[in-house]
Amino acid sequence: MSARAAIIVTGTEVLGGRVSDRNGPWLSEQLAQLGVEVAQITVVGDRPQDMRAALDWCAALRVDLVVTSGGLGPTEDDLTARVVGEFAGRSMVLDEALEERIAAILRPLRARWPHLSEEAIMASNRKQAVVPEGATILEPVGTAPGLVVAPLETGAGPTVVVLPGPPSELRALWAAAIETTAFSAAVAGRTVYDERMLRLYGLPESEIAETLRIADATGVPMERLEVTTCLRRGEIEIVTRFEAPDASAYDAFAAVVRSRHGEMLFSEDFRRVDDQVAEMLVEQRLTVAVAESCTGGLLAGRLSERPGSSEYLRGGIVAYSNEIKESLVGVDHQLLAEHGAVSGEVALALADGARERLGATIGVGVTGVAGPGGGTAAKPVGTVWVAVSSSAGRSIVRHTMLRGSRAEVRERTTTVALHLLRRLLLGEDDAPSA
Ligand code: ATP
Ligand code: MG
Repeated sequence: MSARAAIIVTGTEVLGGRVSDRNGPWLSEQLAQLGVEVAQITVVGDRPQDMRAALDWCAALRVDLVVTSGGLGPTEDDLTARVVGEFAGRSMVLDEALEERIAAILRPLRARWPHLSEEAIMASNRKQAVVPEGATILEPVGTAPGLVVAPLETGAGPTVVVLPGPPSELRALWAAAIETTAFSAAVAGRTVYDERMLRLYGLPESEIAETLRIADATGVPMERLEVTTCLRRGEIEIVTRFEAPDASAYDAFAAVVRSRHGEMLFSEDFRRVDDQVAEMLVEQRLTVAVAESCTGGLLAGRLSERPGSSEYLRGGIVAYSNEIKESLVGVDHQLLAEHGAVSGEVALALADGARERLGATIGVGVTGVAGPGGGTAAKPVGTVWVAVSSSAGRSIVRHTMLRGSRAEVRERTTTVALHLLRRLLLGEDDAPSA
């Protein structure tokens, strides 16, 4: 049986929705990768009694491990360490060496705010160095140290890993936490899982349900695999977890997906289409430029997400109005008048114009009706045209109908564009029309 864990995310700002929780889901994925089953994620405000109730509930769930996020700061509303100490039946003690290490971190910061009271800084510094007796200290990345607090007697309750709220600090301290002996002791005997991902594009999720049925019917031992599918940004992700001895069951399942979906299966190694496009652009020494109408710059944003993207991204033009499509991208006035802005002809002209005007080897043009207004019978909301063209004279133009809100249509359009780009880079091309 695998070890079980619960996650408690603290913070009134997270509970109230002002900050959306990035720590709970991230920790959950990390725990799953370690083979630790996550029983629950709870969000509580910065109130000691609520935090304590959440910890008691975790104990009632009989989890081996609890991971908390937030409430380690220097201010009075940051109370996690104290509540966890009480929960574990440990008294709070001042760790003087830790106090000095935090002071050393704060010293350069103090120079930046000379008017701040020395007294107040020292007091809050000290507060962060008061920890449950016997806790393993995780060295601070910001100013807050993390903690691993084991129960007084083995098996008397869960071990609690206490981490700071800022996501980058939490991630750094998590890496340290899993290396501690207190952590290993808490999750000892866990099952180690392997996790794989298949990414597909261009088919409905119902097709995957059918594929799962077929795999089962053709004798793949599906009960040995934990398969979850989800739709994300217009792609389907199939994540499969299995124990090492069941690798052959996974291989058999992947073979069924491959044979049924062939071309639509574009990634088997966790690489996103963004990664594949970036790698091919670099390998082939090509550059890309975009002219976007309905996505208003989202595609350029997505193409510039990866560090080092300046190697292949030349730039983009947000050509929202027809006037800009003509003046900045060089789309022919006649073409716009004849076919309308949302058309294959204009998408291709946007791709060609972006490529030529911005000096790239590949151009991408995007135009569509994102909604909720602006749809017509001929071009309803969700009508999208995307084109890619290369300086070598190759091009692909595609029409798609996307469903969803304005935000979803716009985001999915960027996915359509990246897949079109991928196909051009793989050497595909629309046959020249006769
Ligand atoms: P600090 O010293 O910054 O106060 P802390 O451990 O007390 O550290 P919190 O006060 O809970 O952490 O959070 C500090 C900030 O970190 C929050 O204002 C928020 O911007 C961010 N943050 C905290 N928790 C989360 C979370 N679950 N998801 C995303 N961001 C978070
Ligand atoms: Mg705080």
